[in-house]
Amino acid sequence: MNLLLNHPPSPISPLHSLLLEEKGIQLLVKRDDLLQLGDDLAFCGNKWRKLQYNLLEARKKGIEQLLTFGGAYSNHIVATASAGRLFGFSTIGIIRGEQYPALNPSLQYARDNGMKLHYLKRSSFRNIEEPAFIDRLRVQFGEFYLLPLGGTNDLAIKGCMELVAEVRAQLSGVLPDYFCLSCGTGGTLTGIVAGLDGTAKTLGFSVLKGDFLKHEVAEMLNDYCKKQYSNWDIHSDYHFGGFAKFPPDLIAFINGFKDEFQLPLDPVYTGKFFFGLFDLIGKGFFPKGSTVLAIHTGGLQGIIS
Ligand SMILES: *Cc1c(COP(=O)(O)O)cnc(C)c1O
Repeated sequence: MNLLLNHPPSPISPLHSLLLEEKGIQLLVKRDDLLQLGDDLAFCGNKWRKLQYNLLEARKKGIEQLLTFGGAYSNHIVATASAGRLFGFSTIGIIRGEQYPALNPSLQYARDNGMKLHYLKRSSFRNIEEPAFIDRLRVQFGEFYLLPLGGTNDLAIKGCMELVAEVRAQLSGVLPDYFCLSCGTGGTLTGIVAGLDGTAKTLGFSVLKGDFLKHEVAEMLNDYCKKQYSNWDIHSDYHFGGFAKFPPDLIAFINGFKDEFQLPLDPVYTGKFFFGLFDLIGKGFFPKGSTVLAIHTGGLQGIIS
């Protein structure tokens, strides 16, 4: 468990290209994908930061079982399963939708890491935040530490806030002008904005269709910080058709990116994010002379298996 608190900072590496030079942008990548234990690829990235304080809290409370929710392609499900195995918690994953005869690679990975999988009809999945529903789960499964859908709660936000202090220390006290990252629930972005407390801009790139996320992040910030911030925004034009949709132009971008920068991206989150980021850079969105920090939030276990 001490490894959770005393981890070395994930490295920051600069990217170089003609486009970046032309546009006068210094692009740094915060390699949270390298935040992992041993060769475990699933408990990494923002899932590490989001689970860190929750795992410590579960241990402090003496609870030995973690229960959480997710879709069939959820990195949070996979990360929870891995973390459970690494730190000796048993894990239960409640999966949205029907069970298919063959497990997809994410669910197979979760099961290989000891997670017990249960399936819940989409219509019932809407109830997962209701106390009466959680009570029924306690009757069914016994005591557990509850991690919400996507793993976003106050302790997750606290973990993500620390990324900002880490970057500040690594860059000798000088923050970049922009923090940019991929968003699902927006929990990680909320932590970054909270950690910045008004000092640099944050740009999120949503992998989900629709504009609802800005409203949800504003609410989380309000709940968590009791403050309104205006130094952040979310771009919702780079979802490529929606969650876990991977059209050929996205795959071509990811392959080209790996060739050019030797940096692997995943198709669900970081691929869409870096596509959007480079699109904005190309369009001159960032003023000349800006330093942009791109957070590689991980998610690579999906492309390895
Ligand atoms: C889960 C995940 C995200 C989204 O994080 P949120 O806090 O839900 O916005 C981004 N990138 C990767 C690689 C992820 O696994």
